[in-house]
Amino acid sequence: MSIAENIQEVRTRIAAAAQAAGRDPREITLCGASKMNDAAACREAVAAGIDVLGENRVQELLAKYDQHAYDGAPLHFIGHLQRNKVRQIVGKVDLIQSVGSLELLDEIEKCAEKNNLRQDILLEVNIGGEESKSGFAPGELEAAGQAAAQREHLRVLGLMTIPPVEAAPGENVPYFEKVRSLYVDMNTKMFHNGFKYLSMGMSGDFEEAVRAGATMVRVGTAIFGARDYTQKK
Ligand SMILES: *Cc1c(COP(=O)(O)O)cnc(C)c1O
Repeated sequence: MSIAENIQEVRTRIAAAAQAAGRDPREITLCGASKMNDAAACREAVAAGIDVLGENRVQELLAKYDQHAYDGAPLHFIGHLQRNKVRQIVGKVDLIQSVGSLELLDEIEKCAEKNNLRQDILLEVNIGGEESKSGFAPGELEAAGQAAAQREHLRVLGLMTIPPVEAAPGENVPYFEKVRSLYVDMNTKMFHNGFKYLSMGMSGDFEEAVRAGATMVRVGTAIFGARDYTQKK
């Protein structure tokens, strides 16, 4: 199957899940998670009408950016972001989805101010309480939202989450539902219904995420095929 056919197939599945939940499929943005796939693969996805491409690593993003991998589609950063790399992507990406600490908020604000722009972000929620993952704990989210709302060069457009890797299908549904409820709460109480993106769901569980209310899914393998981890970076 080609990338274009895979995108079509993923869209069909998104539409079915949305309809089953009484939702309009057009509410859901498809983000192609293109890590470890080359610029040509990204361009193929753009030509096939992917809504957005999302990258995980700053070095890879910059290299592919210079090869015009993302021309014609918005570009998001979705991976773990180190503070010392923030300045390399602020203003270059349309949305930083993975903002999971106050230090990162401050650094993005600083770089955005310096460049005289406003950076759109999502707050990442560590919903499984996993040590190994970044993101705000649910109990820290309100303070994070307040901190972000005070920073003039940031605009919070919603929440993103990566739930624990579960053994059986369906096990992430409670996590998705929890994040959805945090999203609704914050959006109404703090952000004047300005939120756009509830980013959750990947190749293995995007339909569950859609049924639980995701407005953006991040899909890699089901679009680009299995990643080859034996290759050098
Ligand atoms: C790689 C990645 C995805 C997509 O994962 P697949 O299982 O390949 O669909 C989604 N979100 C993030 C943050 C990722 O790093």
